Amino acid sequence: MAEAIRKVSIELSGITLNPGIAIGRAYRFKQIDLESLKNNFFPIKDINLELSRLQRSIDKSKEQLSSLQKAGIDTGKKDIADIFAAHIQLLQDTTFLQSIRDAVKIERLNVEHILSVKIGDIEQRFRSIENETVRTRLVDIQDVYYRLLRNLLEIEHVRIAPLLRARLNPILVAEHLLPSDIALLEFRNIAGLIIEEASAVSHVAIIAQSFSIPTIINVPGVTSIVHSDNTIIIDGFSGKVIINPTLPETASYKLKKNGTSKKNQVRKYHHYLTRDGIRIRLEANANTPQEIESAIENGAEGIGLVRSEFFYLGRSKYPDPQEELNFYREIHKSAAGRPVTIRLLDLGADKSLPFINVPAETNPQLGLRGIRYLFANPDLLDRHFRSVLKSSKYGPVRIMVPFVSIIQELDYLYEIMERIISEERINRSGISMGIMVEIPSVVWSLPQFMDKVDFLSIGTNDLTQFTFAADRENRKLEEFRRASLPVLLKMIKSVAQAALIYNKDVSVCGEIASDPATASLLIGAGIRILSARVNALDAIKKEIESKSMDQAQVAVGKYLEMINGNHSQYRRSA
Ligand code: PEP
Ligand code: MG
Repeated sequence: MAEAIRKVSIELSGITLNPGIAIGRAYRFKQIDLESLKNNFFPIKDINLELSRLQRSIDKSKEQLSSLQKAGIDTGKKDIADIFAAHIQLLQDTTFLQSIRDAVKIERLNVEHILSVKIGDIEQRFRSIENETVRTRLVDIQDVYYRLLRNLLEIEHVRIAPLLRARLNPILVAEHLLPSDIALLEFRNIAGLIIEEASAVSHVAIIAQSFSIPTIINVPGVTSIVHSDNTIIIDGFSGKVIINPTLPETASYKLKKNGTSKKNQVRKYHHYLTRDGIRIRLEANANTPQEIESAIENGAEGIGLVRSEFFYLGRSKYPDPQEELNFYREIHKSAAGRPVTIRLLDLGADKSLPFINVPAETNPQLGLRGIRYLFANPDLLDRHFRSVLKSSKYGPVRIMVPFVSIIQELDYLYEIMERIISEERINRSGISMGIMVEIPSVVWSLPQFMDKVDFLSIGTNDLTQFTFAADRENRKLEEFRRASLPVLLKMIKSVAQAALIYNKDVSVCGEIASDPATASLLIGAGIRILSARVNALDAIKKEIESKSMDQAQVAVGKYLEMINGNHSQYRRSA
């Protein structure tokens, strides 16, 4: 009988926030149940353990919020970034957090109970306030403290996981949403949104409007009628919601949808979150406009490495500068506004050009490579660097310098850059500069580079070769590469920490970022940007979304233990 009722087609109406037609399965999004947490209390034996659970939840919440704030900035959504900046500030309010700690010590009860009682008290106090502006502040407070609760209960992933798994873009149905919920949803593929209760001028509504998905608000009773998996149609032109539509209704709305979607086509940006909601940027290593196009189709958020030498290799003479510039224009076109990282020619060793005479070297891997090769061939450097700098007129370009080992190389390159910029009257606002971190000397002298770069990218292929003195071309040295992981992770962690201190982006573009077995270890070591091979993007996406930050950090910890070991064994016995 209940099943029969559920299958009856029901029509409700509300207020359209975003027009358009959406047809899909419902996903019921629920907030935490404060009442049951308030009623669920028990005595605790170990106060310190309880306090450290609280601290972990605070730290995790801060990390999630910073990641959401950064996502807002990266996607040009200042409203979203501002909301999360305010949330981070709320978490810095030590009075509230101290009152929780004190209550745990005095009452000796589980911390989620104490936190939920405090939240309930705050909600109560706010309800009696008449001033509307002050009352709206409650939404932010609730948002932050509910997040603390979810992290305490370790259930953040429970809210996120079903959405991550939903292969057919669901229609989200919620009683009400908090600003951080909606920012999170933006990162998922959602076909439509129905909010039972929301003011059209609320934060949530304003943010929802910036999406391109059909959205209807103020639909009384919708959450009591809809179950997850019911089919729903949103008619965002007339403000109608149809639950369990009949076959003819679905067919007619499909026709309408096809008619409108062609007009409203928007290219979607993809966003990736770990299982517990930490934002990871997934970029691609791609060298041609065609490859870049396929990277974007496969969900790359940007191009983390264009090995520009591939445009040069196989030629018998210098490419025409205009041809090179056109090549970069095509690259920007394929990237469709996403950031592009063009690495300056990384020639030398196994990559040589027939029209440039380079004296033979005894150890070419340790010889004139990358930036050294370019300095040894000033004409080549000038022609090539000029084209790359000029390409900034087609879109923002991140220029990456390969094989840097000492700071003087960067200083000298910047002198050349200044000359070209002034000769060509290039607008420098679209240019950012970074280096490959692929030689151990750079890992251990990073602070001197930090003021001079906008970003870093770790090249683990060369970094492994030089750290383990194991020629990357030599197949017989596989054993050293296999054993390199713990040391490599230690180095990567220290680079990620330095980048955090200096507020610089750091990615990994070496092969290790294309291997699903190691990608989440990079995240555990503090990396938030991965640049992977195009054909590895799918596997890496799954890896990012399947692991929580805790899991990744614990796994890294185990690798680090292998090399940090027990120091006492080095002590000589007395
Ligand atoms: C690296 O060294 O890890 C890297 C990405 O650069 P390449 O493989 O081109 O040397
Ligand atoms: Mg390299």
